[in-house]
Amino acid sequence: MGGHPTRRLCRFLRPRPSRVAAALLVALAAAWLAACGGIPVPDTGPGSGSDDEEGSRPSPPPPPPRRATLLSVGDIFLHDSLLQAGRDPATGNYDFRPFLDPVRDTIRTADLAVANLETPVAGKAAGYSGYPLFNAPDALLEALRDAGFDVLTNANNHSLDRGARGLIRTYESLDRFGFVHTGTARSPAERDRVAMVEVNGVRIAFTAYTYGTNGIPLPEPHMVNLIDEERIAADVARARQAGADLVSVSLHFGNEYQPEPSPEQERLVEAALDSGADIILGHHPHVLQRAELRDGKAVLFSQGNFLCGQIGEDRMTSALFWLDIEKDVTTGRAAVTGIRFEPVYIHKARIAGRLVWRPLPAAAAARDPARYGVPPGDVPVLERAFRRAVERLEAPGVQLNGSREAVASRQAL
Ligand SMILES: [Zn+2]
Repeated sequence: MGGHPTRRLCRFLRPRPSRVAAALLVALAAAWLAACGGIPVPDTGPGSGSDDEEGSRPSPPPPPPRRATLLSVGDIFLHDSLLQAGRDPATGNYDFRPFLDPVRDTIRTADLAVANLETPVAGKAAGYSGYPLFNAPDALLEALRDAGFDVLTNANNHSLDRGARGLIRTYESLDRFGFVHTGTARSPAERDRVAMVEVNGVRIAFTAYTYGTNGIPLPEPHMVNLIDEERIAADVARARQAGADLVSVSLHFGNEYQPEPSPEQERLVEAALDSGADIILGHHPHVLQRAELRDGKAVLFSQGNFLCGQIGEDRMTSALFWLDIEKDVTTGRAAVTGIRFEPVYIHKARIAGRLVWRPLPAAAAARDPARYGVPPGDVPVLERAFRRAVERLEAPGVQLNGSREAVASRQAL
């Protein structure tokens, strides 16, 4: 892919602090349209002109499709080890931005980036904590925003770790940092809003559901989206009515640490696709599970951990996923045309005297460990992570990201 000038422009012009998810989402979409809608997506095809021509010419060449890339990663939650590492003992302030240094530029090249936030951000007064009842500082959201994430899903088994108050504080923090977010709500009306983002003329709606909340009862039924096939179908239909070209359904489901999807995961994915979902973003097993491209639809059964302090190479291995999206301007139909992935390993290192936990591009870091501050002894870990991710993910329509030469050299790992 070449660098699209419009992409940078859009990202730069993206409105920062936002208030309320969905109303704002419409506003966000409008702002994007204003900022970017009039600029045609660069394309090498002939006659790539404006797509709002009168249409009365004899046989105008068909307009080029609109294209967008959606980047997706798995679970983000901070164990005590990461909390401690992100804290400056001199000031007591937190900064997790250095954790994302190795992937920031890559994430920012995507038109849109989504992740699963699996921790409340319940405020300092509640006390920050890792497992089992998580509460991360706002600095985590700052780091994710800075890294280029736009959308966070947060229906998961830790949504209620800090009760209703923590959930509401998290909701407000996500608004404050300008994220589009979905999965929890403060009111029934808020639950029913459509979280939609328009990028390069493609409208993508995001929804998110979890199998449960670790036995903590929902204070109000609307607060956390629980997996319910009828509800998912109704939400997908509502998103379509609101004008979504593609509907993404995040499912927090499956069995922890299992490299294969469970029969229940398979069943729920079928049901969501049958109800019209185009993209399934799976998480919760904390390890990678296979991805599938099916007739213009993408299924990521489990994206693994993107940032956390779990133990074990499999749990620290994940991937950056890119979904390539095309929208036919004439028919108005949009589809996922390809899935690409970059194997990633959450590596613990001491950089400039401080511990950092960084999702590293496994192949690049294995080839040039010094550049990434990786001790030579850790290179085999990165190589194994790369091979594990490729083994689990590579499939028809699901391929390593990058040029053929780069892929060939990485496959030599
Ligand atoms: Zn989970």
